[in-house]
Amino acid sequence: MNIQTALNKASKILRNSSSGTPKLDSEILLSKVVKKNRQYLILNFDHELKKENIKLFNFLLERRKKGEPIAYLINKKEFWKKNFYINKDVLIPRPDTELLVEETLKLFNANSKLSILDIGTGSGCILLSILDERKNFFGTGIDISKKAINVARFNAKMHQLRNRTKFYNSDIDKFLIGKYDLILSNPPYIKQEDLKYLEKDVKDFEPKLALDGGKDGFSEVKKVIGKTSMLLKKNGKFILEIGFRQKNRILSILKRNNFFINKVIKDYGKNDRCIISTKI
Ligand code: GLN
Repeated sequence: MNIQTALNKASKILRNSSSGTPKLDSEILLSKVVKKNRQYLILNFDHELKKENIKLFNFLLERRKKGEPIAYLINKKEFWKKNFYINKDVLIPRPDTELLVEETLKLFNANSKLSILDIGTGSGCILLSILDERKNFFGTGIDISKKAINVARFNAKMHQLRNRTKFYNSDIDKFLIGKYDLILSNPPYIKQEDLKYLEKDVKDFEPKLALDGGKDGFSEVKKVIGKTSMLLKKNGKFILEIGFRQKNRILSILKRNNFFINKVIKDYGKNDRCIISTKI
């Protein structure tokens, strides 16, 4: 079978699935299989595929058909300016989360020297994107998942940031190391009973641990705020991603914990998504 026939067949298979982009998905998956970019595929339509490659392609297509996200099938997702290694142990980086990176870079110029902490670092994409842009920053990432920490360390190594990072596998309640100029977090904030309404691709494949915010959706964020008020230096900044309709409650928790609110930023869907505050 040649590339063109394989791609046509694949698009047909995915057309009857949750994939909103069957043609693109087919091209991405076949690129992964033949280890070439998409341009190569288009320019070599009549190239005959090896039997083992057809087999592997079909295996990936079947998984995609069942809703498994592309990022898990190709173990890669672009975030900010780089590609990150991703597997099912970590949440797939979301474009909206790039807001945390953008706001950090706006607050601190290229010469600033800061020690920063990322609570619930997952793949490490937030922390590593910032360190890559600010050469004098030193970053610490913690996560309750040992497997996530392995992914974050792998990404740090891949982007040559291992010498400016420390990662700890730790429950937030037990973490007591250091004092920081800036703390960031994108904690799990989905209300338990809302988990079932998430898209199938998310619900069936992404780690619950990274999404589940307890009974009311606030249980993890409360812990993050409590810990941040202990580990942040005076006048230090705190940048937090929040969920749908959580703004008012979180603002009052922050104020109660002696944080001054600098601003609330909306995401691309015009929902409140990120709060910047200062420890006073
Ligand atoms: N934004 C994620 C979603 O839409 C949730 C991430 C989180 O809980 N921190 O599924």
